[in-house]
Amino acid sequence: MRKPGSRTLNAARERVILVGICAPRRPRTEAEEHLEELARLAETAGGQVVGSFLQEKGRKDPSTVIGRGKVEEIARETGRLRAGLVIFDEDLSPAQARNLERALEVPVLDRAGLILDIFARRARTREARVQVELAQLRYLLPRLTRRWTHLERQAGGIGVRGVGETQLETDRRIIQRRIAHLGRELAGIERERGERRKRRGDALTVALVGYTNAGKTTLLNRLTGSRAFAEDRLFATLDPLVRRGEKEWGRFLFIDTVGFIRKLPPQLVASFRSTLEEARQADVLLHVVDVGHPCFEDQVKTTRQVLSEIGLGEKTELLVFNKSDRLTDPRTRERIELAWTGAVFVSALTGEGLADLNSRLESLSSEETVLGRAAVPLMAGAVLARIHSLATVLGSRIVDGKLEIRYRARPQEAAAVSRLLEEAKEG
Ligand code: GDP
Ligand code: MG
Repeated sequence: MRKPGSRTLNAARERVILVGICAPRRPRTEAEEHLEELARLAETAGGQVVGSFLQEKGRKDPSTVIGRGKVEEIARETGRLRAGLVIFDEDLSPAQARNLERALEVPVLDRAGLILDIFARRARTREARVQVELAQLRYLLPRLTRRWTHLERQAGGIGVRGVGETQLETDRRIIQRRIAHLGRELAGIERERGERRKRRGDALTVALVGYTNAGKTTLLNRLTGSRAFAEDRLFATLDPLVRRGEKEWGRFLFIDTVGFIRKLPPQLVASFRSTLEEARQADVLLHVVDVGHPCFEDQVKTTRQVLSEIGLGEKTELLVFNKSDRLTDPRTRERIELAWTGAVFVSALTGEGLADLNSRLESLSSEETVLGRAAVPLMAGAVLARIHSLATVLGSRIVDGKLEIRYRARPQEAAAVSRLLEEAKEG
């Protein structure tokens, strides 16, 4: 038997058809962006996109997601374009995937399956490999029936159908045993990591987090003068990378992390918990954003959502708007600056804004400051301006119609901010 989940796309640059799903009442442009991202993912996985479809979600036909008619149309195109794989931008239930594979007569992957495939190919260290395999097996287990049928088909197993059920039980048991084994191995690696972490001492620890391809690794290289692997690909970095050094303001430690993406498979998030554990130990998260991307605001949202899922939502976050060299229209830039006070605009490529970022980090590393949080009514511009003059605003977001601000200030100033807020409430 082939190792389950080991099916990868790179063999002979597999020809791929993409299917995007447009939710009712959502803008089509949004679905198009998602499809664009799916195409990049498919290419990262070694596939060659030969066609794509965008279809409104068919409420009448949950068994195929897109409805019979569309399935037939795609089946025809699959044959005409000689595609060997169809990838859906939607999470498919094991039953849906089975129905679609039967109708399309080629293997079907969903977004989660595709992301897992990419991770599997990019994992280099023992830890990353264990994490990815664990995620793959957890994903595979409920889908085993379907996989098995096409494993047979691919192996040219004519007439072996009858063997299926007992073989399936055996496979399930093998996989479950393997999951338990990998879980123990991971626990061992995590203990080692914990030991290493203890030896870190008092340096300011900064973790770079953010959507995939935002420029985290490039920025890390810029900030530390190192040469980590950065590439215009999704998920170039899988293993956490730690860089230590001195700056004028003290010792620091920068940690690069794996990027987030919308619909990151939950099995993957669970497996990468220990890698992200590095970020949990950080004093501050540098949330790196590709501000030149048309959907950067959604990407900020997705990243924050994953951060809160893994229990990092409360961490001090410094928003870094990278690739600001791409904001060539001054009016666009101004609009974004006004909407996102507290974000530092930088370009890891040109070096713009890095001095500003360094001084923000410097003020964060100063021991005499405290962290605070304030909710300011949206209309209270004067209060907001006062807070900016008193404290270093680290980040802000709108929560329940108020601007929630996280700031760092010396205790005296922090007290002043609190008084200001009390007055604003009363007044
Ligand atoms: P990561 O996935 O967040 O680690 O992103 P990388 O650091 O691998 O960068 C992704 C791509 O964005 C690479 O091609 C970089 O050269 C490019 N990039 C990074 N920073 C900038 C920037 O400030 N401006 C521009 N124009 N491109 C950048
Ligand atoms: Mg990276």
